[in-house]
Amino acid sequence: MQVIDFHTHIFAPEVIAQRERYCQRDSWFQLLYGKPKARMATVEKLIASMDEAGVAGSVVFGFAFADMGLCREGNAYVLEAAARYPGRLFPFAAVNPACPKEALREARACLEKGAQGIGELMPDGQGFTLTSFEMLDPLMELARAYEVPVMIHVNEQVGHYYAGKGKFGPREAYLLALHYPENTLVFPHWGGGLPFYELMPEVQAALQRVYYDTAATHYLYRDAIFEQVASWTKRILWGTDYPLISQKRSLRRVRALRLAPEVLERVLGGNALAILARGGGS
Ligand SMILES: [Zn+2]
Repeated sequence: MQVIDFHTHIFAPEVIAQRERYCQRDSWFQLLYGKPKARMATVEKLIASMDEAGVAGSVVFGFAFADMGLCREGNAYVLEAAARYPGRLFPFAAVNPACPKEALREARACLEKGAQGIGELMPDGQGFTLTSFEMLDPLMELARAYEVPVMIHVNEQVGHYYAGKGKFGPREAYLLALHYPENTLVFPHWGGGLPFYELMPEVQAALQRVYYDTAATHYLYRDAIFEQVASWTKRILWGTDYPLISQKRSLRRVRALRLAPEVLERVLGGNALAILARGGGS
């Protein structure tokens, strides 16, 4: 079985060394990475973690800054990193839909250079909403043309607060999915709870191209969420949010659950490979 982590963040060494400068330039980045203890990783660290954990491939992105110049810098690093480790990384392009023209140009350039998806977009920090359809239309059209997934951050709207907990959740994610039924969408962090609504038949029918990644699960939910949600939807992607969560530890916890072998295979890599195989650079 090829294990794929669908959610990892990497940064160039210069960005890590000068994180205060980036904090001054982006308030959402400041919120997430302002504390010196907040973990950041280079591609070398990610690859070492993958090797240690037995992870074959990782979907990788930087940070979705509000400023398109910073997005471009991050994308350049991510694409270069992916080229350095052939076959190990699936690079995604981070752009800001609130700057539609620039975002479209950059996303297309990245897809031409081998990016295999768009994301993880950050509505709260970038200044768009999940129903800002005029801003999102060009990017969604591009993603359909290249047959690549779009990943947009959402999170649960109840429970404890943490830095980075934003205001968009399952309701907004659902409206977005209804508006773009032909796009493959990935909603991180269990879609903020959207999969629970798939117990409603009409909701499940409408979300056939929506996938949920499990990033940061261990901070949010009891592990039972895997077995529960897997009992009514197949569209789950194992993702860690590395370096926030250790790949090795997360993998050990998921493997310790009593998931049927075919479920485990889908969650840990089968679904990811199916989505990622469709498009990219075509
Ligand atoms: Zn993330």
